[in-house]
Amino acid sequence: MKVYCAECDNACSDKAPYCPRCGHPLQALQPPPMQQPVQLIEQTAKRWKMEILVAAGICILGVTTCSLGVADARLDGGGEGMIAVGAFLALAGFLGVIVVRVIAWWYHG
Ligand SMILES: [Zn+2]
Repeated sequence: MKVYCAECDNACSDKAPYCPRCGHPLQALQPPPMQQPVQLIEQTAKRWKMEILVAAGICILGVTTCSLGVADARLDGGGEGMIAVGAFLALAGFLGVIVVRVIAWWYHG
């Protein structure tokens, strides 16, 4: 491919660093290569932290519901439903934390 020297208008090869007639630099006329944007790993790590927080919140909610159910059962019987729901939420939240942690470890080491 031919390029024209800005100084003397001579047709030169685009691989030549300088114009062979007048010595004007040709490479400097070309635009600099585009810089690739650097991906922020911390941004993706923060995403997983949010999911861990949500799963931990569900777990805490489950434990709280479970304890309330136990307290209710001690006071006037019943509360089995609350204990069951609380235990289920606590287990689901606990499993959620483990699953999210494993996924985050798998992608980020
Ligand atoms: Zn030239």
